[in-house]
Amino acid sequence: MFGSPRHDALERIVYCSKACVDTASLQIISEILGVSRRNNVRDGLTGALAVNDGWFLQVVEGPGPALDGLLRRLADDARHAEIELLSRRTVSGRLFPDWTMVAARITPEIAPQLQRLIDQCRVSPEAAVDALLRIVTGRTGAVESEAR
Ligand code: FAD
Repeated sequence: MFGSPRHDALERIVYCSKACVDTASLQIISEILGVSRRNNVRDGLTGALAVNDGWFLQVVEGPGPALDGLLRRLADDARHAEIELLSRRTVSGRLFPDWTMVAARITPEIAPQLQRLIDQCRVSPEAAVDALLRIVTGRTGAVESEAR
């Protein structure tokens, strides 16, 4: 869907952050998703956003300079704080090629698993990506096999 010039290697970031807004508010979340989708189409970024009980977990992939720009904007965004970059790596392909930003619907079954990942923030970003991938596509297993 998005082509990158050779010098802009494809990268993937995973971060979690603490919400400073009511994450149960559909209006707030749809505002965030709306601006994300608009900007991400422009910037060649794709990914998924999980929202649950006061925290965010997001995976975003695309050209490095576009991710740098996003990280700067995220850092200035008062809607969340304590942004923890769990992982940033060069990847060979996109795991979320069809989503300029998909909302990962957190079910009661998956919530405790994701909460554990958040609590142990630095433990396994791959597991976080895998969980998001499973939620939005039903696919799994693509993350661990990629070279770092
Ligand atoms: P505008 O949308 O016009 O916003 C201008 C400024 O106002 C920005 O500094 C913004 O942070 C601030 N702002 C806007 N609305 C509010 C509000 N309701 N409350 C407080 N401050 C506000 N952006 C992306 O482009 N891609 C993403 O994938 C993405 N994911 C996000 C995930 C999370 C969890 C959050 C909280 C935000 C995300 N954003 C994302 C939004 C990002 O942080 C910036 O707000 C946005 O990129 C700025 O877009 P803009 O330059 O068009 O400015």
